[in-house]
Amino acid sequence: MSAARDETMPGGTTGGTPGILLAHHLKQLKLPTVLREYDKVARECAQSGIDHPRYLLRLVELELIDRERRLVERRIRAARFPAVKSLDTFDFAAIPSLNKMLVLELARCGYILGRENVIALGNSGTGKTHIALALGLAACQKGFSVTFMTAASLVNQLLEARDERRLLRLQRDLALVKLLIIDELGYVPLSAAGAELLFETFSQRYERGSTLVTSNLPFEDWTSVLGSERLTGALLDRLTHHVSILSMNGDSYRLKSSRVRRGRAGDRAEQNQATTNRHDPETGEITPV
Ligand code: ADP
Ligand code: MG
Repeated sequence: MSAARDETMPGGTTGGTPGILLAHHLKQLKLPTVLREYDKVARECAQSGIDHPRYLLRLVELELIDRERRLVERRIRAARFPAVKSLDTFDFAAIPSLNKMLVLELARCGYILGRENVIALGNSGTGKTHIALALGLAACQKGFSVTFMTAASLVNQLLEARDERRLLRLQRDLALVKLLIIDELGYVPLSAAGAELLFETFSQRYERGSTLVTSNLPFEDWTSVLGSERLTGALLDRLTHHVSILSMNGDSYRLKSSRVRRGRAGDRAEQNQATTNRHDPETGEITPV
């Protein structure tokens, strides 16, 4: 081999142990799964007489599967869910007012492509946040960007951004996200400035992205949170133009599961047994220990 060729070609390409250079190139190409798996898969393919194109195909497929998984994880982290919940752990029988078919349809995320909205209304403890989290998770899994915030926290962030003169940037970020979830509209009355900024957020997202709102208040009471009749009307006009409404009035699941706990404890006292139940606050599941 000539000296000139040595200067232009990476040394490892021409023989010896290519492992170090290969690792370097694969890192630069951002193919961590190929790097991790190539040796093992090579041995497997050699053993079963699989040719080079199929070996390469297998590696590339592994990289693609892993890349998709990493992207979903990144979207979930970016959404800042307070907890990760899915529809698998949701007991539809506990809330008969909720249209299960509609929820399953929403989990397919067609409404996000159509830039339509979702509103979940109902009293406290009926699973509104659970459903919002589950639909948010489904959206992350289907490839959409998601942001989850309580209404109070969103308004605080908007007011803070305005004071720090970075409101436009925050508003632009909020307008770009494919699904914005605003939880618990109605628990805290908003200041006039806060309500105005919340309205602007809805307005800027109108027909651009989907917004999912949960509230313990029926629409006619939203004025008590937003302060002004005019603003409430304009906000509802935008939010409900293309909307699916999830009606979630019913018994509080929290209360129900703690009643079950107390009930079981009572039974046990009667039977004079010294056992306790474990209550999973995430799923509401109660298991005797
Ligand atoms: P809300 O937001 O309507 O006040 P949450 O979604 O916070 O209610 O529900 C309270 C707790 O009960 C959560 O831990 C939630 O996961 C659980 N929960 C509520 N409804 C159900 C249900 N139908 N099936 C399973 N868990 C539920
Ligand atoms: Mg809630």
